[in-house]
Amino acid sequence: MKIIMLGAPGAGKGTQAKRIAKKYSIPHISTGDILRANVKGETELGKKAQVFMNQGLLVPDDLVIDMLMDRIGQADCEKGYVLDGFPRTIPQAESLDAALAGLGEKMDFAIDVDVPDENIVKRMGGRRACVNCGATYHVEFNPTKTEGICDACGEKLILRDDDKPETVQKRLDVYHDQTQPLIAYYEKAGILNTVDGTQNMEDVFESIVQILGA
Ligand code: ADP
Ligand code: ADP
Ligand code: ZN
Repeated sequence: MKIIMLGAPGAGKGTQAKRIAKKYSIPHISTGDILRANVKGETELGKKAQVFMNQGLLVPDDLVIDMLMDRIGQADCEKGYVLDGFPRTIPQAESLDAALAGLGEKMDFAIDVDVPDENIVKRMGGRRACVNCGATYHVEFNPTKTEGICDACGEKLILRDDDKPETVQKRLDVYHDQTQPLIAYYEKAGILNTVDGTQNMEDVFESIVQILGA
């Protein structure tokens, strides 16, 4: 099963993708997580990507496409995967489709987690991330047992640089401009499904399971 998560930054793509990955036993592939790991590890890719990420801009297509193709070519992706944060532009979607077509494969589902901009700023301000294990929390909607400490691995949580309010607005603009056109792209491809992302996390997941099948 190959799934794409669509939605604005902060809509809950990562939160839901982790649950999907667990239920359907497929890897969760977050291009944001892979890029942040590269920034932390100070790789060549990380150094190039960081400049864009800190400004709330997209990392150039060629860098991200190569990185993603490399990841989905790995052995654990044979039975499918859930993509979170990729594709984010029409050229990325076209590259993915072309690569899959070359293997005689195709995407099965694109799930748009729909959340209006008004709700997004609040979600991002309260988001806390664990750079060690990738877990994500929210100070109000999904708090940790001990404030500021990851439940899963005990590491100190961070407020991402790009989750500060001034960068969030930029990222929303970039989303509307470059990523939202993918909704029409996947609708045309006949695989688009929309869920109401303003529901609580459990109800959003239930809506997704209804689409994917139990
Ligand atoms: P969010 O989960 O809030 O939507 P991500 O963790 O997916 O954010 O992405 C963080 C940043 O990493 C983006 O703002 C962008 O700079 C970069 N990024 C992640 N995925 C992509 C992609 N597919 N194309 C270009 N840039 C990306
Ligand atoms: P994305 O991957 O789309 O950027 P995340 O999954 O990281 O979004 O969620 C953004 C923030 O909102 C996180 O702090 C997360 O805990 C919180 N969140 C996710 N889904 C919901 C929801 N349905 N209701 C309230 N808060 C949510
Ligand atoms: Zn952790």
